[in-house]
Amino acid sequence: VAIVGSGASGLAAGTEASRAGAHVIVVDENMMPGGQLFKQIHKFFGSYKHYAGIRGYEIGKELLEEAKKSGVEILLNSYVCGVNGRNLAVAEVGSVRWLKSKQIIFACGASEKLISFPGWTLPMVMCAGAAQTMVNVHRVLPGRRFLMVGAGNIGLIVAYQLLQAGAEVVAIVEALPHIGGYDVHASKVRRAGVPIMTSHTIKEAHGKDRVEEATVVALDDEMKPVPNSESKFDVDAICLAVGLKPNLELLLSAGCKTMFLPAIGGRVPIHDENMETTINDVYVAGDAAGIEEASTAIEQGRLAGVAAAYKLGYLSKSAAEGMKATFSETLSDLRSGPFAEQRKLAKEELIKTAQRMKGL
Ligand SMILES: Cc1cc2nc3c(=O)[nH]c(=O)nc-3n(C[C@H](O)[C@H](O)[C@H](O)COP(=O)(O)OP(=O)(O)OC[C@H]3O[C@@H](n4cnc5c(N)ncnc54)[C@H](O)[C@@H]3O)c2cc1C
Repeated sequence: VAIVGSGASGLAAGTEASRAGAHVIVVDENMMPGGQLFKQIHKFFGSYKHYAGIRGYEIGKELLEEAKKSGVEILLNSYVCGVNGRNLAVAEVGSVRWLKSKQIIFACGASEKLISFPGWTLPMVMCAGAAQTMVNVHRVLPGRRFLMVGAGNIGLIVAYQLLQAGAEVVAIVEALPHIGGYDVHASKVRRAGVPIMTSHTIKEAHGKDRVEEATVVALDDEMKPVPNSESKFDVDAICLAVGLKPNLELLLSAGCKTMFLPAIGGRVPIHDENMETTINDVYVAGDAAGIEEASTAIEQGRLAGVAAAYKLGYLSKSAAEGMKATFSETLSDLRSGPFAEQRKLAKEELIKTAQRMKGL
């Protein structure tokens, strides 16, 4: 079993397939395994039965430990740059080689969405995840005075982590009339003195060789700029936290079909209840399967790992069915709250479409 990505979903998938007896190789482009989790120094939101209140990097350590114990092999500094059938082209320093497998699990995460505006290509306009990687992984504070665009969980959390790292956040602007992230994160930044300006967006970034100033504008009920409502902020960095989208390139190269479901990130790969895509023996899990949370990424990874191991004959039908039922039940628990309603409906639609396409 070849797995692309050593984040929450890839590690969980690898553990299950390896525990069942399969030879599992997880490939990751980074020098450290763990994906997003090792950047997350905050206590996780979500279900208390499922990691809520535990810091992201601690969850990562636990998953990594579990994967290593089960015998998963992890190939780091290795970038999967192509797919041919069930084989992956893996680029390492100075060479590209083929990794032959019988089952592939794409657990390759997500990328940040962008918005464009005059000045958006100036140095120091960056995605919030990039700023978080610089601060929490590389220990580099990329600016001193930030404007954050987007008050979803990522915008709120990264704004707080920039404050913790010693930067100033002059404001968080949010185009919607309400905050998208959880109250607990919004309250923390507000207590630290950061204003959250709803119904506002960035109009322009100014500067000669890099960001020196930002213009913000109010939006009316139709999301149109309100005339003469501009205000200027003296900043040296602008972070965009305007959503995530699944990394689809490899799935598309493999021939997997997609559909458009805005509630889980836009264009997403069609997959069935076992996380199998429209191509036999090719699975997807985690953010790559639609944007949700680490907890759902883990359970989806476990489902894909068990399904792949079963297909290879390492598990009996009843053992595989039993495990899949447990993971599926946890997944529906995790999607049961009001915050998850839209995601749950989108996932149901994906699965129904996959079943229709497979003639089930
Ligand atoms: C700021 C922030 C805060 C968050 N807070 C929470 C929270 O409180 N609670 C919660 O449940 N979730 C939270 N999340 C979401 C959570 O971190 C993710 O949903 C989860 O970690 C996704 O796991 P994953 O395995 O799908 O992907 P990732 O962790 O992104 O792992 C994918 C891995 O694949 C690698 N990869 C991709 N393409 C290739 C390739 N071609 N070749 C080799 N390697 C490749 C990537 O480098 C990466 O290491 C947060 C996310 C962010 C950004």
